[in-house]
Amino acid sequence: MSVPQPRLLEQIAGIIGPQHLLTAGAELEPFLTDHRELYHGRAFAVAQPGTADQVAQLLALCNAHRIGVVPQGGNTGYCGGATPDDSGAQLLISLARLNRIRAIDALNYSLIAEAGCVLADVQRAAAEAQRFFPLSLGSEGSCQIGGNLATNAGGVHVLRYGMMRDLVLGLEVALADGRLLSSLTRLRKDNTGYDIKSLFLGAEGTLGIITAASLKLFPSIRAAATAFAAVRDPRAAVELLSRVREASGDRVSSFELIPRLAVELTARHIPGVRDPLDGVHAWYVLCELTSARAADTLDAMLAECFEQALEDGLLEDAVLARSERERSALWRLRETIPEAQRRDGASLKHDISVPVGAIPEFIERAGRWVHDNVPDGRLIAYGHAGDGNLHFNINQAPGADRAAFLTRSETVKRAIHDLVREFDGSISAEHGIGQLKVLELERYAPPVELELMRAVKRALDPNGILNPGKVLRPLQPEAQERSS
Ligand SMILES: Cc1cc2nc3c(=O)[nH]c(=O)nc-3n(C[C@H](O)[C@H](O)[C@H](O)COP(=O)(O)OP(=O)(O)OC[C@H]3O[C@@H](n4cnc5c(N)ncnc54)[C@H](O)[C@@H]3O)c2cc1C
Repeated sequence: MSVPQPRLLEQIAGIIGPQHLLTAGAELEPFLTDHRELYHGRAFAVAQPGTADQVAQLLALCNAHRIGVVPQGGNTGYCGGATPDDSGAQLLISLARLNRIRAIDALNYSLIAEAGCVLADVQRAAAEAQRFFPLSLGSEGSCQIGGNLATNAGGVHVLRYGMMRDLVLGLEVALADGRLLSSLTRLRKDNTGYDIKSLFLGAEGTLGIITAASLKLFPSIRAAATAFAAVRDPRAAVELLSRVREASGDRVSSFELIPRLAVELTARHIPGVRDPLDGVHAWYVLCELTSARAADTLDAMLAECFEQALEDGLLEDAVLARSERERSALWRLRETIPEAQRRDGASLKHDISVPVGAIPEFIERAGRWVHDNVPDGRLIAYGHAGDGNLHFNINQAPGADRAAFLTRSETVKRAIHDLVREFDGSISAEHGIGQLKVLELERYAPPVELELMRAVKRALDPNGILNPGKVLRPLQPEAQERSS
């Protein structure tokens, strides 16, 4: 750092107001550990700007003094992207005060939200305008739109509406040198050159700090049918998905695969959750159809499809939610699996995706490997099977030694990710890279893709101040890198 800290702090306070600059240890603490408690970092201060211009000015200042900045939204990310390193030389920028919905355009089916808006508040604002914003995650009560954009979040509606990337019309972004990119277009068609906004989606704060976004809205949901069904095996689940998509005219908005162990763990650890079916079954799906037409008889459609599946031996049992309360109970079971897993002990997590049709074979082969090689672990492969995304997690078995179990993580990760590569899959389907998977990205990304990523980083952040060490390792000066 080339300026004495007190002077720098004064300058930061001058930009955002002294009351929005935190420097005392206890005030900083909540910002310095990630949600999964995998990382703990240090920062010399936390800045809480209230406008996009203030974010841009902070970046201009930090760029001039070569100070690393770490943007943070709701701090619910799974890869340590929002946690500073342990040098104590970085500035954490919290976006929480940028929390205004700037505009809603119901006729254009769009809204403009600032980066610090909590996802659930954006969903609510859309609903008040008789519109629907489809991004939906277990963390929606605390994650922020900026974090969702920066991680290109997925969630339970990807099958129908796509990832966060697919829900964006335009962005406002503070660049490393302090310029503000104002591209909050509400257009759906705009073929004027490169799609610059795409660069910042999924970049995890390494190319710019997103301050606002223009987002797509959809017609409100007026009919829904939700079912929890026991299926013979993952192959039957995938076949069922295909049938329900066809029979419902593609009205499936969620299709989640859930193994028996996840049902047992949520019922054991989460108050109020119970097994919705009587018998014991190896695999389940949570399937939801939705429609904007109140007159659509989705329950009947789903029931008819399930009856045929039962006859054909794909389904073993099923229950349809008959009220909003029953629907919420089914979703609570699904959404609390991560928490139940956490309460049950240590787990080795892999957020992977493979083509939907390959899910059964992947689970079979990877499951066999786990069975043969991780005797102190229990497989919980669950998730958004409708879009090919599995949280392929292995929990510590009852009575297993936590430390010994965790020492297996590298070996297990290598085996699972190598298999993912064999299936043309992804080693990070929706959670991003952060600091957790930097080396994994290096190992599995096509070399030309990595080169292009580094070139983009160098072009947009030549001094490497934006979230250093996340996604990519800190870049060497160009000449040095070429010769090494
Ligand atoms: C219970 C639970 C369930 C979850 N379910 C899902 C799921 O289904 N699908 C899914 O995709 N994820 C899921 N997640 C992970 C997480 O909620 C998402 O990654 C979310 O998008 C992160 O948002 P955040 O505001 O908390 O971001 P943070 O954790 O604060 O930050 C995440 C990354 O984005 C960067 N960042 C934050 N704000 C900005 C900004 N304004 N500009 C630039 N960079 C920024 C940070 O530097 C960091 O690299 C879940 C998490 C939990 C705890």
